[in-house]
Amino acid sequence: MTLQVAITARSGTARAGAVTTARGGYRIPAFMPVGTRGAVKALDAADLDTLGPELVLANTYHLMARPGAEVVAALGGIHRFTGWHGHTLTDSGGYQVHSLRPSVDDDGVTFVSVYDGQPERLTPERAVEVQGLLGADIQMVLDVCTTLPASHDALRLAVDRTASWAQRAATRHAAMESRPEGQALFGIVQGGTDPLLREESAERTVAIGFDGYAIGGLSVGEPRDVMLETVAATVPFLPEDRPRYLMGVGDPVGLVEAIGLGVDQFDCVGPTRMARHGSVLTAQGRLVVRNAVYRTDDRPLDAACPCATCARYSRGYLRHLLAVHEPTAWRLLSIHNLTYILDLVREAGRAITEGRFDSYRRGVRSVWGD
Ligand SMILES: [Zn+2]
Repeated sequence: MTLQVAITARSGTARAGAVTTARGGYRIPAFMPVGTRGAVKALDAADLDTLGPELVLANTYHLMARPGAEVVAALGGIHRFTGWHGHTLTDSGGYQVHSLRPSVDDDGVTFVSVYDGQPERLTPERAVEVQGLLGADIQMVLDVCTTLPASHDALRLAVDRTASWAQRAATRHAAMESRPEGQALFGIVQGGTDPLLREESAERTVAIGFDGYAIGGLSVGEPRDVMLETVAATVPFLPEDRPRYLMGVGDPVGLVEAIGLGVDQFDCVGPTRMARHGSVLTAQGRLVVRNAVYRTDDRPLDAACPCATCARYSRGYLRHLLAVHEPTAWRLLSIHNLTYILDLVREAGRAITEGRFDSYRRGVRSVWGD
């Protein structure tokens, strides 16, 4: 196996530790900011250096369309291309393709490009090859997402195709020479909110043998309690010695509860998307800084926040930048919201290590409620 997982502390099913990779390693639990088109929106790699995430997600579907995986490879691969030298994980494109309402057959998916309206084809093998060219530290198998709620037949078909595609991806990845040394491949568990299908999907994926395992197809509009019940029904069937990645979850309560269930890593566009809309995460809960009430408010967004935005700028100034559509507002608010979420997940890890995770989790719930 390419990755090594060292668990150094536990609290019930929650766990903290580190994952060793070809690049070095990252601590778990971990939050991955999303750099859809090769940049976390409004930020650059120097901002990321300051914020300190250990992994960033990049989007295969968008990068294969623009500028093209071959162009990224010609420019030295995703790390040289983006100037970000921490860990990068590329998704398989499955989720974005799913949102384009593709036609899915047993061999792959055909969809219409959002860029030029032309039909495009993605197969499990092609997804592996594209991600080999992009050259991230971790790549994901192509899976079949299902819109929820879904019929049992639709979920069953998605589980069967996901398992078959996972095997094809693993075979292609093992045989491929044109990828970075030590590049890891994660499998993805599907099954909607059906616990028996989740168990089956986990067992079939684990039987193939991957460097890590993702729980996919959640956070697509189902209630949070249902999402967490599904995570709780899936995690026991994932191996202890592999990273566990819950895709698309990044709200404070969802993060701490899923960490409590034994999940190690997360990605979500939420914190940066909310920032661009003037919605801010603080120790007291959500603050909508674009509201007029903050027009003459001289306080920082969050007096408890250590970020560069809170050290320097008032709510009134930030509200003004938003109101006149200055791009600087998106950058400053994204820096703040990512600081909040990265600190929340790091602090969860510290709380596990120091034996106070339950009270930490209750504290987050008391701020953010249900
Ligand atoms: Zn701040």
